[in-house]
Amino acid sequence: MRLYNTLSKKIEEFVPIHSPEVGMYTCGPTVYDFAHIGNFRTYTTADILFRVLLHNGYDVKYIMNITDVGHLTGDNLGDADTGEDRMEKSAKKEGKSAWDVAEFYTQTFIKDFERLNLKKPLLFAKATDHIKEQIDLIERLEQKAFTYRTSDGIYFDTAKFPEYGKLSNLDQIKEGARVEPNPEKKSPKDFALWKFSPKGETRQMEWESPWGIGFPGWHIECSAMSMKYLGESFDIHVGGIDLASTHHPNETAQSEAATGKQFVAYWVHGAFILIDGKRMSKSLGNNYTVQDIVDRGHDLLALRYLYLQTHYRQEMNFTWEALQSAQQALYRLYKDVATFEEPKVGCAEYEKRFEDALSDDLNTPQALSIMWEMLKSDYPTSAKARTIYKMDAILGLDLQNSRTKIKEEIVVIPDDIKILMEERNALRKEKRYEEADKVREQIEAKGYEVVDQNDTTILLKAS
Ligand code: AMP
Ligand code: ZN
Repeated sequence: MRLYNTLSKKIEEFVPIHSPEVGMYTCGPTVYDFAHIGNFRTYTTADILFRVLLHNGYDVKYIMNITDVGHLTGDNLGDADTGEDRMEKSAKKEGKSAWDVAEFYTQTFIKDFERLNLKKPLLFAKATDHIKEQIDLIERLEQKAFTYRTSDGIYFDTAKFPEYGKLSNLDQIKEGARVEPNPEKKSPKDFALWKFSPKGETRQMEWESPWGIGFPGWHIECSAMSMKYLGESFDIHVGGIDLASTHHPNETAQSEAATGKQFVAYWVHGAFILIDGKRMSKSLGNNYTVQDIVDRGHDLLALRYLYLQTHYRQEMNFTWEALQSAQQALYRLYKDVATFEEPKVGCAEYEKRFEDALSDDLNTPQALSIMWEMLKSDYPTSAKARTIYKMDAILGLDLQNSRTKIKEEIVVIPDDIKILMEERNALRKEKRYEEADKVREQIEAKGYEVVDQNDTTILLKAS
C-alpha cells in the first residue's frame, strides 16, 4: 500500500513498524460545539484508511482523542495558548457547566460518527481522563531541560529542539495577529505545556500539578495519549491539513524531545471542505452540522458518498446541488443492488482493481468508478452482489440494506400515484399485463419508477 507522507512530502510504500500491527491515531474534535461536515470529512478519510488497512490484513489499533479541556480561542498558528477557553466560553453561553458541555457534545459527536457509518476506534480517549499522563510527560521534558516557566504557564523551548517544524513550513508559525502576543515567550514558536489558572479565579476545569493549579496546553494531550496506547513510535497519525503547520509539529517536538525516538512514521493530512472558496469553519460561521444535512432531508450516507467522490488531498467545495447528485447516485446504486440475486463467486478482476486504487494513496474517486464499471459489466448479478458487498466493507454505504433503503426513499407518495399503483396492482392480479404496463407508463410519466421484485413492488422517484 502507498501513502502520501507529509513528513517526506512524497508518496511512500507503507511499511508498518511491527507488522501486522498498525498503530493509528487521529486528532479528534474539541467538544465545545457541534462538529461540522468539514471536520467529518477528515474523520471519513481516517475511516477509509482504517478500513483499507483492515482489508489489507493488518491488525489496526486505532485511537481518536476527544479534546474536552483547554484549547484556547486563539487560532492554531502559534497563538493557541492565548485567548479564552473554548469549553468555559461555551459553558457560559449555554448556561451549563463546562463538564456538561463537554459531555453533551462528546455524545453528539459519537452519535454523528455512527450515523456517518464511521467505524469506531478502539478508544475515544478523553483529555480529561489523561491528566496524569500529560503531567508525567511534561515532567519528562522538564527533566531534560526542554521547558521554561513564565507567569502564565510552563512552555516548550523550541530553540532546544533543532528539528522543530520539520513537518511544516516554519514561516507559517508566527505569532497570531488577532491575539496579544505573550511577551514572556522566548520565541513565538514556543507553546504552552501547562497553563496556570488565572490568579484569583477558579476555573471549572483545573487540576493540581507540580507547577501549580491549572490545565494542560492543547498539544500535550495528543502526545501523551497516543504514546500511552500506541507506543513511543507508531505508524500513522491523521488530521486536517491545518494541523500540519502547528499542532502536529508541536506534538512531534514534545514527543521526540521526551523519548529521543521518532514519534510518527507516516503523517496523513486531509484537505479542507470549502464553501464558496473559503474554508468551512466555525469561526467564519459558514459551517453545516450533520444534523443540518438530515434536516434538509438528505441521507447521511449521501454525504459519505460525496466525500468519497473527491480525493482526500484535494479541496472540496460543498454545495447542496453536489450533495443532491451524490444522493441520486447512491440511490441508483441501492436500486441496482436491491435486484441482485444471492451472492456467489465474485468478479475478481474488478476486486483487484478496486483494491489497487484504494491502496494507491486512498484513491476513492477511482475506486467508485471501478465499482460502477463492475455494475455495468456483463457479470451475473450473483457475482456482482458478492463483489459489491466486499467493496462496501471499505466504502461503508450500507449496501447490504439496499432494499430497505429504497423503500425508505419515498416517504410521501402523492395521492394520484397511489391510485395508479393500486390500479396497476389490481390489473396484475388479474393477469391483465398489457393494461398494467400502460398504467406503469402513466406512473413513469409523472416522474416515478416502478421496480417489481419477486412478490413486492417498489416505487422510486426517477433520478
Ligand atoms: P477542530 O475541532 O477545529 O480541532 O477540527 C477537528 C478536525 O477537523 C481537525 O483534524 C481539522 O484539521 C479538521 N477540519 C477543520 N476544518 C475542516 C474543514 N473545513 N475541512 C476538513 N477538515 C477540517
Ligand atoms: Zn492532536
